[in-house]
Amino acid sequence: MMNGQQYKESLKKLKPIIYYMGEKIDSVVDHPMTKPHVNSAAMTYELAQDPLYQNLMTADSHLTGTKVNRFTHVHQSKEDLVNKVKMMRMIAQKTGTCFQRCVGLDAMNATFITTYNVDKKYGTDYHKKFTAWLKYVQENDLMIAGAMTDVKGNRNKKPSGQSDPDLFTHIVEKREDGIVIKGAKAHMTGMANSHEMLILPTTNLLEGDEAYAVACAVPVDAKGVTHVFGRQTNDQRRLQGDLDTGNAEYAIVGGETLTVLDNVFVPWDRVFMCGEIEFAQDYVTRFAAYHRQNYGGCKVGNSDVLIGATSLIAKMNGANKASHIKDKLIEMTHLAETMYCCSLACSYEGVKEEAGSYYVNTLLANEVKLNCTKNMYEISRLAHDIAGGFIATLPHEWDFNSPVTGPLIKKYFVGNEEYSAEDRIKIARLLENMSGGTALAESMHGAGSPQAMRIMILRESNMEQKEELAANLAHVKL
Ligand code: SF4
Ligand code: FE
Repeated sequence: MMNGQQYKESLKKLKPIIYYMGEKIDSVVDHPMTKPHVNSAAMTYELAQDPLYQNLMTADSHLTGTKVNRFTHVHQSKEDLVNKVKMMRMIAQKTGTCFQRCVGLDAMNATFITTYNVDKKYGTDYHKKFTAWLKYVQENDLMIAGAMTDVKGNRNKKPSGQSDPDLFTHIVEKREDGIVIKGAKAHMTGMANSHEMLILPTTNLLEGDEAYAVACAVPVDAKGVTHVFGRQTNDQRRLQGDLDTGNAEYAIVGGETLTVLDNVFVPWDRVFMCGEIEFAQDYVTRFAAYHRQNYGGCKVGNSDVLIGATSLIAKMNGANKASHIKDKLIEMTHLAETMYCCSLACSYEGVKEEAGSYYVNTLLANEVKLNCTKNMYEISRLAHDIAGGFIATLPHEWDFNSPVTGPLIKKYFVGNEEYSAEDRIKIARLLENMSGGTALAESMHGAGSPQAMRIMILRESNMEQKEELAANLAHVKL
């Protein structure tokens, strides 16, 4: 297993083409815009070396028989599913942001099950090829970007009905030695600082969509791959100093790319689905459920930090004794722990698949994420309510450091005299960072938009059984 530094060194050996602000990023490890995201992902490596966290951060691989980083592990028990959630909460408490490596973990677990099921029906050898690649991932402790979300074009049309065929990733050529794919994956969390991507379909596929039923592994710097690194709220503050970023070391949410695949060649031993349209829906459902499970882990760990910042600000403002403040802090905690409960529940209700691995309860995993789309907004709203309007009107850190305005700010931004103005501003900036803009949009749309969860909840709700329950009690014959 690599440590944080070794992970950074390993990234330096790759040569991905990444653009930001019209220019190529030479080194994701050193570029000011990507560096904090790399630091955050590096925590998934660093903490695996810490004896205090090894139980959560590592697991016994069923493929190699040795300890591997949990972010490369195929869940072998309900306890593994539970530990995944606890691990995420713990890392999120330390980074205050997204550490990105979960998407690949979830894509790998979904692919493990799907390739088994496809092989069972068609006698293909995807599962064998996939486990061979997975073993390589585990042995080299790689970070994998889960590459599901296509750009999708006109939402009224299916993949093969789009006016531009590239709006969903598809196979353009099948060759003796492999396939050639074309398209683009959007909102690719952690892609810029991953070693490889695991591509999978993004939606249910119908007859005619066969070319779009593709899963495969591609290095981030493969020929034909171009990444465009996305913007985040207040990202330019990083170029002007640390104070105003709020969390200079680890940034704000994941760091996403638009990843364009322009006639990328993939050898057959890295192709894990090729045309089996009827498995796309189940594949997507499984990936989504695994990923939605996480939001009661990472977002709760982030909420722990945000609630702490809010409680501190209340003290720094001299308002912490007011009963309504206490009540709001209780409400924030209640909302966060509710998400945690759902994550634990969907893990404890997990089941063993025929493939041998464990899969979360789909209904409950979707409840986690639907709660997140509301609870994180309410937690943030309460944080803003308690903190006060100054989080939105604070001066620039250059003014704080200026010999002319600095002393004024240091005098007039003191609240409770037990705390300095500088500490109050630092906590306010952290709170601002974690409770607005990109962070909230991520809580809404990361791992899928709320409507996607509602559809799954209806599908999994067993409404007929509920109707029968009512009919039985009321002596109604259906
Ligand atoms: Fe992981 Fe997604 Fe949470 Fe980021 S937002 S820490 S990728 S589950
Ligand atoms: Fe995400």
